[in-house]
Amino acid sequence: MVIGAGPAGLTVANLLRRSGIDCVVLERRSGERVAQRQRAGIVETRAVRMFTSWGLADQVLGGPPSDGFMEFRVDGESHLVSDDDGSEGPRARLCTQQMLVQKLTAAYLADGGDLRFEAADISLHDVAGDRPTVRYRAADGTRRALTCAFVAGCDGDRGVSRTAVPDGVLTTHTFDHGIGWLTVLADAPPPARPLLAVSSHGFAAHFARGPHASRYYLQCPPDDHPEAWPDSRVWDALRTRFADPALVAGPITDREIFRLRGHVHDPMRYGRLFLVGDAAHIVSPLGGKGMNLALYDADLFVRAVRDSVHDHDDTGLDAYSRRCLRRVWNDQEFSHWLTRTLHDAGDDAGDDAESGSFRRGLARARLDRLFTSRSAARTFAELLAGVNPAPTDR
Ligand SMILES: Cc1cc2nc3c(=O)[nH]c(=O)nc-3n(C[C@H](O)[C@H](O)[C@H](O)COP(=O)(O)OP(=O)(O)OC[C@H]3O[C@@H](n4cnc5c(N)ncnc54)[C@H](O)[C@@H]3O)c2cc1C
Repeated sequence: MVIGAGPAGLTVANLLRRSGIDCVVLERRSGERVAQRQRAGIVETRAVRMFTSWGLADQVLGGPPSDGFMEFRVDGESHLVSDDDGSEGPRARLCTQQMLVQKLTAAYLADGGDLRFEAADISLHDVAGDRPTVRYRAADGTRRALTCAFVAGCDGDRGVSRTAVPDGVLTTHTFDHGIGWLTVLADAPPPARPLLAVSSHGFAAHFARGPHASRYYLQCPPDDHPEAWPDSRVWDALRTRFADPALVAGPITDREIFRLRGHVHDPMRYGRLFLVGDAAHIVSPLGGKGMNLALYDADLFVRAVRDSVHDHDDTGLDAYSRRCLRRVWNDQEFSHWLTRTLHDAGDDAGDDAESGSFRRGLARARLDRLFTSRSAARTFAELLAGVNPAPTDR
C-alpha cells in the first residue's frame, strides 16, 4: 500500500510495477490538484541515472538536459559553478516537479496501476504486525479497508502515516535558520541558468519553471506577510538584488512566505511501515535536494521490497532507514552549508553586528574557495549532482 501520490509515492508505485509487485496508491487530493503542484525544477544527475537503471527515464523525465552550470552573482559579479563531477552517464534534467508527477502518473496508469484519488480519512492499523490494514473513505463516500504486506508512507510532512508510529519511537531532529523566503511564481522569462544572488540587500534567486515561467526567491523576515509584497515591490527588490535593472517582469501567479528549516525523523521505519520522502525529512530548498531525496528513498525502498518478496531476503528492509539517513544527513549538511553561506555572505549585521560581520567574512571566504579551488569546486559538483556519498552497504 502506498499513501500519497507525490514524487515519492508515484516513484514507489512505478518501480513496484516494474518489479512485478502489486500495490494500491491512495491520494487525498484530486488528480488535477496533484498534477498542478509546482515545487522543484531539477531532477539531479543521480536520480536521472536511477530512472535510467529502471528503464523509465524516457517515459517519466520531461524537459531538456541541464547544461550543469549555475550562476552565483556576488555584488553584481558573476561566477559560474558546474555540477560536472567527472563521472560518466546521463546528467541532471530541467524537469519540473509537476511534469515529473504527471508523467509518473501516466506511466503507472498505462501499466495498469491502481491509483485512487480523493481518498479521505485514511488510517493505518497493525503496522507492527505481519498484515497491516489501511482504512479510508473512497471518493463515492463508501468506507473501505485494504490489507497488505507493506505500507509506504509517502504523504509528506503533514500526512497521516507518521502518526501511526507510537509516541517515543521516533526522534525528531530540527533546525530553523530564522530566515524567511518570499517565493514568487511568475509567467516571466526563465534565466539561462539557475541564479543565486548575494548582496547587502539580501539573498535572491531565480530558477526556470518551464519554458515561459520562473520561480523567484527573496530573503525576508520569517514572520513577514505576502500582502506586504505587492508586485512593484517584488520586481524592484529582484532588480536591485540581481543588479539587473533590465530584468523582465511578468504576471505573478503565486506568492507565499515560508521559513528555512530542516528536520529529520529517525528511524524511517516502524514495523511494516516505511517513511519515504518528505514524510521522513524536510530539507531547506537551497541545493535542490528535497524531491531528489524522496526519489532516493523510493528506489531504496522498492529494491528492499523486491529482495524480500522475490528472494525472501530482508537485508535491504533492515538496512533501509540507516542507508536513507546517511544520504539525508549528507544532503542536509549540503543544504545547511549553502544556506548559511549565501545568507551570511550578504549580511554584515544579523542579530549581532560584531559576530555578523565575522560570519560574513567566513561566508565570503567559503565562496572565494568555491570559485578558485578546483578541489572545492569538485566537491560542490559531487554534492549538487547527488553522486556523493558513493553507495555502500554501510
Ligand atoms: C517552495 C518549494 C520549493 C521547492 N523546491 C525544490 C527544489 O528546487 N528541488 C527539490 O529537490 N525539492 C524542492 N522542494 C521540495 C520538494 O517539493 C519535496 O521534497 C517533494 O515534494 C517531496 O515529495 P514527497 O512525495 O515526499 O511529498 P509530497 O510532494 O508532499 O507528496 C505527498 C502527497 O501525499 C498526499 N497526502 C498528504 N496527506 C495525505 C493523507 N492524509 N492521505 C493521503 N494522501 C495524502 C499529498 O496530497 C501529496 O500528493 C521544494 C519545496 C517547496 C515547498
